[in-house]
Amino acid sequence: MIGDFERLAAETDMESFISKYVRPEEFILQCKACPNYGKLWSCPPYDFDVMGFWKRYKKLKLVAYKIISDDNGEKMRLSMEAARKRLDGELEREETQLPGGLRLAAGCCGLCPSCSRPEGKPCRHPDMMRYSMESLGADVVNSLKELLGLELQWMSKDRIPEYMVLAGGMLTP
Ligand code: SF4
Repeated sequence: MIGDFERLAAETDMESFISKYVRPEEFILQCKACPNYGKLWSCPPYDFDVMGFWKRYKKLKLVAYKIISDDNGEKMRLSMEAARKRLDGELEREETQLPGGLRLAAGCCGLCPSCSRPEGKPCRHPDMMRYSMESLGADVVNSLKELLGLELQWMSKDRIPEYMVLAGGMLTP
């Protein structure tokens, strides 16, 4: 446990991860229902081969933070923000020490106040922008459950779950 966060991690080989969890043609349907679809360079549709992207790497380290919930919605939101910064920071540091490694972000890119994609302009920070696992067609729900023993819970308008989860990863060549 780190403060209010519990950290879980597991490493898996890429061939096994792809065969069990990577299905871009299925998960793009969920992306299409999201307002960020086609609006951020970190989100689909992509102009590259997503399966080919995964296959460039040999291993994936999956890292998740389990954030214990608070009945106070505003406190929960702040805890999630703090956890996301911490997880991204952890993975950024690891990435700088791993030649050829690539971080998978916990969620979509928020580096700029507004993304350049709707203006038809290239990404302003392609060296810093990172993709999330879900945007690359990975089954986050089942990979967290089977590799980390972590069941996701969902927020509804009248219920705050017992915990929330943020997930990222590190791809190793
Ligand atoms: S770095 Fe900026 S331009 Fe690039 S994906 Fe992120 S928000 Fe968009």
